[in-house]
Amino acid sequence: MKLDTKAMRHLAAEDWRVLTAVEIGSKNHEVIPTPLIESISKLRGGANRVHKSISALAKVGLIARLKEAKYDGYRLTYGGLDYLALHTYASRKEVYSVGNRIGVGKESDILVVADDRGEQKVLKIHRLGRISFRTVKSNRDYLRKRQGGSWMYLSRLAAEKEYAFMRALRDEGFPVPVPIAQSRHTVLMELVDAFPLRQISEVPDPAALYAELISMILRLAQHGLIHGDFNEFNILIKEERSKKQPSSEKGKDIETVEEEEKLTITPILIDFPQMVSMDHQNAEMYFDRDVNCVKRFFERRFHFVGTQPGPFFKDAKKTLGKNGAKRLDAAVEASGFSKKALKDLEAAIREQQDARGDQAGSGDEYDDESANEDEDEDGDSEEGNDSEEDNVDVEGEKDLKTDKPDISMK
Ligand code: ADP
Ligand code: MG
Repeated sequence: MKLDTKAMRHLAAEDWRVLTAVEIGSKNHEVIPTPLIESISKLRGGANRVHKSISALAKVGLIARLKEAKYDGYRLTYGGLDYLALHTYASRKEVYSVGNRIGVGKESDILVVADDRGEQKVLKIHRLGRISFRTVKSNRDYLRKRQGGSWMYLSRLAAEKEYAFMRALRDEGFPVPVPIAQSRHTVLMELVDAFPLRQISEVPDPAALYAELISMILRLAQHGLIHGDFNEFNILIKEERSKKQPSSEKGKDIETVEEEEKLTITPILIDFPQMVSMDHQNAEMYFDRDVNCVKRFFERRFHFVGTQPGPFFKDAKKTLGKNGAKRLDAAVEASGFSKKALKDLEAAIREQQDARGDQAGSGDEYDDESANEDEDEDGDSEEGNDSEEDNVDVEGEKDLKTDKPDISMK
């Protein structure tokens, strides 16, 4: 699923109103009856004007007519929800233009966007209803269950939860991208100038990076959290060159001391919708899985094996809240997420993971350089390489393809 912003500039104020009306109507209706759209949008031109907007919106795929509906009605599409979120960011001056897609995650699209000063940011669009067509059977059941508006509800929840955790983690000094804003099923965040660990073939000191990642897992645990998807795709490696301080450490020879530059490697953690509490009933399994992901990856990629066993869940559990660590699991759950909502989200994420056959920390079969292709599960991106640096416009359907390099939304 790709976001094509071309139609954005052509929408009139009335069209936005009608699109918003469809969104409001979808809170209580899976298919929003046309008369309801009319009454919510209250356009001056009356029903005729509303119908004109409905046609315009349906034509560019922002709303869809449901053929099997017993009554005449429409539903919001992912595209429609994307537009509403972008419209909100644009009105708050947080996003002015949409650039290329830098990643297709497992349950998301990741776009580079910019504000009107040209500052680049990342827009993560959650797409929790999207599944692989490669594993058709299980997905068909999945699709049936997830029909209607629940994709919207679940994707929004994923974005809200992710944003809440990013803020909490950032406040506690964890290395995560700066969260900027959140709207509907999207999160706006800092663009980290880094590649996923998955794409890094060499690091100066694997043991040091390994230790840092394990200590991040332990620090999360101290704050009551398990990432739950702590793998080489969700750890970005920032490389910074700085002037090297002359070192007097023993064991360093003259040559290294004289080197001008030092390469510092900082891991940045991303991707939080699946975070779980240390009190979760399957916490130990999630904790061990995260630890083993790191171990397995370091062994395969860097031929590094830690000398110590563990860390173990039972030891991590003892550190909960120690040294004044704030319980972030409780803090976020208390910030307005209902138990039911979190359960729904968890179930959906798990189902989706099952449907795609979990690839976290999967081994050699993913060890080629086509990570992006492997991760694109909706099978609609054969026509382009999403990671191309100079691929600036957001590709749409073939017939809507635009030749504008950068798409202003105003
Ligand atoms: P998903 O939940 O679908 O796995 P992620 O949040 O893990 O999505 O993002 C998918 C990919 O997008 C990452 O592996 C990374 O390459 C890129 N990415 C995500 N967020 C950022 C960011 N803030 N800065 C730079 N790249 C990012
Ligand atoms: Mg990810």
